[in-house]
Amino acid sequence: MFGKSSAKSAAKKTEKPFWETKTLGQMNKQEWESLCDGCAKCCLNKLENESTGEIQYTDVACRLLDTEKCHCVSYDDRKRYVPDCQILNTNSIKRLVWLPSTCAYRLIDESKPLYWWHHLICGDKNTVHDVGVSVRGRVVSERDTDDLENRIVGWPK
Ligand code: SF4
Ligand code: SF4
Repeated sequence: MFGKSSAKSAAKKTEKPFWETKTLGQMNKQEWESLCDGCAKCCLNKLENESTGEIQYTDVACRLLDTEKCHCVSYDDRKRYVPDCQILNTNSIKRLVWLPSTCAYRLIDESKPLYWWHHLICGDKNTVHDVGVSVRGRVVSERDTDDLENRIVGWPK
């Protein structure tokens, strides 16, 4: 009895987590949503250089972003309030070339591992802020400025 149950728990421990075994298209809604690291870099306004086509980030966040908590205040209704909000899905991910290299969706799509600071790895949703990967503390809201051209930044990578 004892031997049987410890064999079971040993087997459980070696089971790989869903983000290592599933493609983005195989994930259920709950798995998909849990993959977001909460960095909010994708919620920054971007400018496209007309001559080169290069996309540059600004440190001006979408008006629906709570810049301290780094989450969308109307996530379920976001398209209604911000029609140009780019919703991530298995089709759009390849087109959204500006997604940061740290984005968990991009990493999984490119068959790369998640970073150690991702909450699914380290178990703490605050670590992404503590290690300075998120936008917390370094952006302003577009409610407070519309001067995008003077707010181009290079750190959202
Ligand atoms: S960049 Fe990716 S991981 Fe970061 S908030 Fe956006 S969707 Fe989530
Ligand atoms: S609407 Fe919400 S999810 Fe979309 S860019 Fe704005 S803050 Fe981000």
